[in-house]
Amino acid sequence: MIKLHDLWFVPFLNKDRIEAAIDEVSDKLNEDLVDENPLFIVVLNGAFMFATEVLKRYTHSCEVSFVKLTSYEGTATTNRVNELIGLEEDVVGRTVVIIEDIIDTGTTIEALSGLLESKGCETYKVVTLFLKPEVYNKNINIDYVGIEIPKRFIVGYGLDYNGLGRNLTDVYQLKSTNMTNLVLFGPPGAGKGTQAEVLKQKYNLVHISTGDVFRYNIKNATELGTLAKSYIDKGQLVPDEVTINMLNAEVDKNSDAKGFIFDGFPRTEAQADSLAELLTSKGTSVSAMVALEVDDEVLVQRLLERGKTSGRADDSDEGVIRNRIKVYYDETAILKNYYQKQDKYFGVDGVGAINEITERLVSVIDTL
Ligand code: AMP
Repeated sequence: MIKLHDLWFVPFLNKDRIEAAIDEVSDKLNEDLVDENPLFIVVLNGAFMFATEVLKRYTHSCEVSFVKLTSYEGTATTNRVNELIGLEEDVVGRTVVIIEDIIDTGTTIEALSGLLESKGCETYKVVTLFLKPEVYNKNINIDYVGIEIPKRFIVGYGLDYNGLGRNLTDVYQLKSTNMTNLVLFGPPGAGKGTQAEVLKQKYNLVHISTGDVFRYNIKNATELGTLAKSYIDKGQLVPDEVTINMLNAEVDKNSDAKGFIFDGFPRTEAQADSLAELLTSKGTSVSAMVALEVDDEVLVQRLLERGKTSGRADDSDEGVIRNRIKVYYDETAILKNYYQKQDKYFGVDGVGAINEITERLVSVIDTL
């Protein structure tokens, strides 16, 4: 995470991803513009870095010019006037290619197109590193697009926030404000569900228990439920792809949430990676993994006790319970290390009265 002026930004697209897109766009330009001796017009300031990379990859003869658009209020107060500065080349009859860093609503490209036309340039192509298709609402064809992005404010790779961030080779997006996303962690029977109920009230978060969602689907005999049941009955993990898709759908159902408590997810590294990706796409991230630490024998006793009333088949068979705990150590416990590396792991003693354990969790969460 980085800070520019007063705002925090989280990673969005790394350099490798961006350069792969530039390779693709440049290959197409090389193919399409052979023998055209194009005039590339780089729109400053933002496009300087993208343009450099495209032009380094462009292998045929070409000319390059740099322009800036100024806009100011005209004498009539509502009259916005655009002026093109820096374009000295004759554009009549040329193959012109406009290089832009980002196109969102398309106001700039529309103004630029009008100004080029007024200079006698009838046809031109447009290449942009980023396009926001959700907000682009003009009729001008965008011929080459590096990466389509959602409606987000981004910086890096030439793009700035009030002058800062242009030199970053990765692209960052504005962190959405104050979201708290907790991964409540611990072996089966550690008390995650119980504590999540209390914490969701206290912090006004949405609680997503993947186990509960599976059980709901089993009860309602959905396709997902039928698929998950065979794994759950044996105490095994449901395959990542199924679980990840389900989790993404649950998060999407709650687009206004102030944050989430993830209970029983992630359970594998692939799930943790996908959660990071999902939250990144929303301009946020995992705030912390808070883990309830409880001895294995205590867990077995708790689950057998719970099985007397929970109606859960996987709670009433000691063999299945032990297998769930084994699966936790074999497949899930590695995530402690995953979050520790990011300084996001907090272990809490999970033995004692429910309210005492809540207090221990709260004292961690309040420091985040
Ligand atoms: P829980 O209620 O969290 O103890 O989950 C009950 C069962 O649902 C687990 O033993 C798994 O079979 C399945 N399950 C829940 N969450 C996940 C997950 N994140 N990945 C794979 N399987 C899961």
